[in-house]
Amino acid sequence: MPITVPSRTDKVNHDEISTTCLAREDMGCFLRWCWAALRWDIVPDDAGIEWLRVPDEYRDRLGGCEAIPVAGGDAAGAAASELPQPASWQDVLRMLGSVDQVAHATPTHQPGSVHELTPRLFDAYSVDGGRVMLGGCSLEVQPLLRSTGLVVCDDNSQPLQLVHRFSTVEGQPVDPRLVSSLHLDQLSPLSRPAGVPSVDLATWLATGRRQLAETHLEKAVEPLLVTVVWCKFLRCKLTFEIGETRADLPFSSWAQWLADGEISPPPFRCPHTGRESFHVVLDDDGVMTVAEAIAECEHTGRRVVETSLAVCDLTGQRVLRSLLVPCPVTGQQLMADHRIACTMCAQQVSPKAISGGKCLACQSLRAAGGNDPRLGSVLERYPKLRQWSSWRMSETEKAWILRASSVFRRLLVVVDRHSLDPLHLAERSLLSSRWSPVPADRWDQHLTP
Ligand SMILES: [Zn+2]
Repeated sequence: MPITVPSRTDKVNHDEISTTCLAREDMGCFLRWCWAALRWDIVPDDAGIEWLRVPDEYRDRLGGCEAIPVAGGDAAGAAASELPQPASWQDVLRMLGSVDQVAHATPTHQPGSVHELTPRLFDAYSVDGGRVMLGGCSLEVQPLLRSTGLVVCDDNSQPLQLVHRFSTVEGQPVDPRLVSSLHLDQLSPLSRPAGVPSVDLATWLATGRRQLAETHLEKAVEPLLVTVVWCKFLRCKLTFEIGETRADLPFSSWAQWLADGEISPPPFRCPHTGRESFHVVLDDDGVMTVAEAIAECEHTGRRVVETSLAVCDLTGQRVLRSLLVPCPVTGQQLMADHRIACTMCAQQVSPKAISGGKCLACQSLRAAGGNDPRLGSVLERYPKLRQWSSWRMSETEKAWILRASSVFRRLLVVVDRHSLDPLHLAERSLLSSRWSPVPADRWDQHLTP
């Protein structure tokens, strides 16, 4: 059965100190706890009185006592015993200060298994058409130090006073709120956990005692016992599964925080939108996201992650990005099947970029002299075009549009502005206003060197 250190605690300063005044019964209770935590032998005698067998190395400090009565200190049998008795309970308490080992303990109330915590993990989420499960989980124990000291009182009539100081094993003070939230006021003795190196324990003992030495109280503090408190810490990976799609969410916390509802598992974060929610869904493209990040394409009705949609500049509709293409003349995004072909350059452009059948680029041809580098690069690539003259040029985001004249005819050449590959050729007579596309199998007549 766990033993509770007397509950009256006062904060001495803003620091992480708690003090506990001990009545005589409470002293016995605290000592019994210490003996249990140190794993020292307690043996009942024929009269039913329990005796602590004092280890050899500490008997000198108790006037040679081989055993002392464990509880209360007022047992008639103990008083009548022929065994030597310690001078006072203060002597017994102070003997703890010479103990060269740490005690081990665990918060009396803390989760025992992952199984106790899984409802709090899983119940936080709603997964449409799927489930959340543990993709990996461990319930580790993390050590904290409780250094217990005895406040020296000048006046022996004063009650004994214990102080507890909590710190990390590195010696960093522990926030009082953590002490409270981990229920460190109630500790149960524990066997030394396997795998803890002795050198660590020796270091932690020194650290704990140093913590007390650095405690600033009005009265001196004698170090008594350093207890390593092993607190359970949860590290897990939550795995969300809908159909064949999976996503992981790491989470870690003091187990007690989760058990007490002081912390909740984190919301699922949509990797595409950054939106966070506890409602996990799959969009129509099979992307795992949260319900709040889903939006509907106004053209297809598909429900997808909102970042998969964009506004069509022509219609104002919010549609799938994959349906949108840029107009080479205006740069605006519009649905591909809303584009119109220019009757002159044959580029697919926005209806907003065309009038009278011609795109704005074809309507804004400007004279291009021999020093225009764009024209120069086209003529260098296609020398046969040098026989043409009176060049005029325009450009879009995709193409260069070049128009040339000879005595009786005009030629239109549209090339990719990056590769200079031909996109469209057309010709017309000077008397005609209509351009006639040159079939691709005749392009060589104009473009072959
Ligand atoms: Zn055009």
